[in-house]
Amino acid sequence: MAEDKELRYDPATIEPKWQERWAADPALYAAEPATCGKPKYYVLEMLPYPSGQLHMGHVRNYSIGDALARHMWMRGYNVMHPMGWDAFGLPAENAALKNHVPPREWTLSNIAGMKRQFKRLGMAFDWATEVTTCLPDYYRWNQWFFLRMYERGLAYRKKSKVNWCPECATVLANEQVVDGCCWRHETTIVEQRDLVQWFFRITAYAQELLDGLDKLDGWPEKVRTMQRNWIGRSEGTEVDFFLEEIQGTGNREQGIGTTRIRVFTTRVDTIFGATSVQLAPQHALVAAFTAADPVLKAQVDELIEQQKKAREAGDLGEIEKHGVPTGHFAVNPYNGARVPIWVANYILADYGTGAIMSVPAHDERDFEFATKYGLPITQVIQPIEKTEGEASLPFVSEEGVLVNSGEFDGLSCADAEKKLQEIATAKGFGEATVTYRLKDWGVSRQRYWGTPIPMIHCERDGLVQVPDEQLPVLLPEQIEITQQGGSPLGRVPEFVNTTCPKCGGPAKRETDTMDTFVDSSWYFYRYTDAKNANAPFDSATVKYWFPIDQYIGGVEHAILHLIYSRFWTKVMRDLGLIENDEPARRLFTQGMVLKDGAKMSKNRGNVVSPDDMVAKYGADAARTYSLFAAPPDRDLDWQEDGVAGVSRFLSRVWRLTMKYAPVARTGRSESHSFRTERGKDGAPGGISLQLLRKLHQTIAKITLDFEGRWHFNTCVAAIMELVNEIQAADAQLAAGDVPPPAMLELLRSLVLLLAPFAPHLVAELWEELGEEGSVLRAPWPVSDPELAREDELEIAVQINGKLVTVVRVAADADAKAIEIAALADEKVQARIAGKKVVKVIVVPRKLVNLVVKSA
Ligand SMILES: [Zn+2]
Ligand SMILES: [Zn+2]
Repeated sequence: MAEDKELRYDPATIEPKWQERWAADPALYAAEPATCGKPKYYVLEMLPYPSGQLHMGHVRNYSIGDALARHMWMRGYNVMHPMGWDAFGLPAENAALKNHVPPREWTLSNIAGMKRQFKRLGMAFDWATEVTTCLPDYYRWNQWFFLRMYERGLAYRKKSKVNWCPECATVLANEQVVDGCCWRHETTIVEQRDLVQWFFRITAYAQELLDGLDKLDGWPEKVRTMQRNWIGRSEGTEVDFFLEEIQGTGNREQGIGTTRIRVFTTRVDTIFGATSVQLAPQHALVAAFTAADPVLKAQVDELIEQQKKAREAGDLGEIEKHGVPTGHFAVNPYNGARVPIWVANYILADYGTGAIMSVPAHDERDFEFATKYGLPITQVIQPIEKTEGEASLPFVSEEGVLVNSGEFDGLSCADAEKKLQEIATAKGFGEATVTYRLKDWGVSRQRYWGTPIPMIHCERDGLVQVPDEQLPVLLPEQIEITQQGGSPLGRVPEFVNTTCPKCGGPAKRETDTMDTFVDSSWYFYRYTDAKNANAPFDSATVKYWFPIDQYIGGVEHAILHLIYSRFWTKVMRDLGLIENDEPARRLFTQGMVLKDGAKMSKNRGNVVSPDDMVAKYGADAARTYSLFAAPPDRDLDWQEDGVAGVSRFLSRVWRLTMKYAPVARTGRSESHSFRTERGKDGAPGGISLQLLRKLHQTIAKITLDFEGRWHFNTCVAAIMELVNEIQAADAQLAAGDVPPPAMLELLRSLVLLLAPFAPHLVAELWEELGEEGSVLRAPWPVSDPELAREDELEIAVQINGKLVTVVRVAADADAKAIEIAALADEKVQARIAGKKVVKVIVVPRKLVNLVVKSA
């Protein structure tokens, strides 16, 4: 039996054995209370959607976080490493339609399956704090937050054009529309519909969300850039052009209730070059113009249709520009110039004011439009370094001075902008403004499987909040799911019909549910106090744990989840619940797992199942491979040969440790004098020191990697090298050249270094070495810099075969380094002065001979 065990590494036996032991010890992966006195470390991987199966991307993501959590435990931190389920969402409803399984049942059974997989992978999660977002104990707090936001005007209702996915049969947030299509249905074109919807006023935090990015230096630059672009701040000026007076009608045009057209521009310094005003087809003034002009109306309708088609094709930015003159004119408030008013399909109603001034000489788009329709092009900015008329138009740089701009001629663009803004403010026809691309977050969904919005519609009182003590508003369990006809909850009378909390009369519940991104916006706070029935969490506990020290997830969440959760954090801070401004100090975005260069997908038939890998090679091999095969931020191409290779490596560690553990165990009681002893070859320390040197160099490297670089692939490679070196000395080990205390230090440290990567194997070997308690509570090994230092060698330097001197070089110095050291030596320089070195012969680690001739 014992011999058998010694020979064969069998993960199928040892892994379930340790998983059982770990499951029986709930304190093992549990965070300690704040009073424990240790520094805290909150490591978090983004929670999965319970689709039913973990995929290889999950294995990789969670292997990264798990390795880090284990390492931090060994470094003596109080570690929080929780897991949960982003459990509301559309696939559960689709599955219900297809298989007639209720969404709740489908979801909970998927969760059970995936939890089993997580446990089989040996992930160090604290399951006692598990969060499942589709359960009432969680989503009641979504409702509670909604009410708090409603009370502060941060949740509101408005009729608006919304993105509608016909496939999802629901509204999508702007962030969920990708190239004009649904983010879940890549070939389904998103339509525009008018609906009354609930919104969260994320724009109230636009500037703070933008400014906060500068401080998030632990976040990848690419994520910060994506968020900056998404928030899309642009500084500019709003200016009123006046609608031209029509003779005989006084100040106002007949039938038109406005005399001003407010335009937004980022370049007010070019306003003397404005040769038309362009309106979005949906602009209110356009409706007034077309009401009296059926020909114009038909033309405008066509522009709207073109816009719609371009939006659906996802290339609104690339739309072929068309426009029609309205026959009306506007007056430039600065110089009284009269310019025609056009309607154009490339002007968007929801950007700025839905109206622009067109300055063809200094804007690419305006230039293209003016050239097409023969509108005048007036240059008003002149490049600083050129004389007038030499600039090729359009000249869009702001490195210039004003010309053809009356009293402003000669001013720089920046000075002119400031001056013109001051005048607009003083005269009341405009002001400096900031606009954002970010829009308020539409959270209404006409779906069943989400958090019910806790509002009531009363005929007498209008919108009424559900009182806190009536939360949660429960999702009804028995419901027929269809994808037509609006909110499924609207077809459940027992749900819809209720009593108005204000007047006690009959009233109806809101039937929309919340976007599932609400669920993931604050789940990581709940982990700190997951069982709290009286509040979303305890503020003091959150204060201890936040911000998250390391957040890990895919870069595909750069703008959706990662902006919403930043917003939510700021709202909770302003509600007085928390003190931190940002949810996570550091963010890491891992690469994807590919197969044969392509994303794994059922359609391609290239899916590698984690279960198969674990069954064949064990969880330790699958996990270690997923860290070894590529740097964690790069894509990884899954190679089964590679997993097999890692499995063989773990096998070697197993055999080596099993073989020498009996010797090592006896080393505990012996002194460590071997460090100063001489080996059989007379060299200091001999093979013992040579191996310990390699060990301490490996410790230094891996420790450094965990502190920031995260090149776990080279960490695993370094451990492989260490094992190779130990194995290469097998004859000396077998002969007893390495004394037991050195043997113990070698094997014990090897096991500790592998602990973040291959926890099962390590647990077994730890026991084999006679250690007690969990390896997670054993201190991470510390590299001894004296031991880790590379040896120096003495190299004899000869000139024409005669010994001249001896130089010292690093033990691993190459021929070139040895040559340089020899030539730099004073004695050597004295001998070769005025002569020519014709040849350098280096015998590695021994000598260098310079062949020298008289010059
Ligand atoms: Zn869809
Ligand atoms: Zn009422």
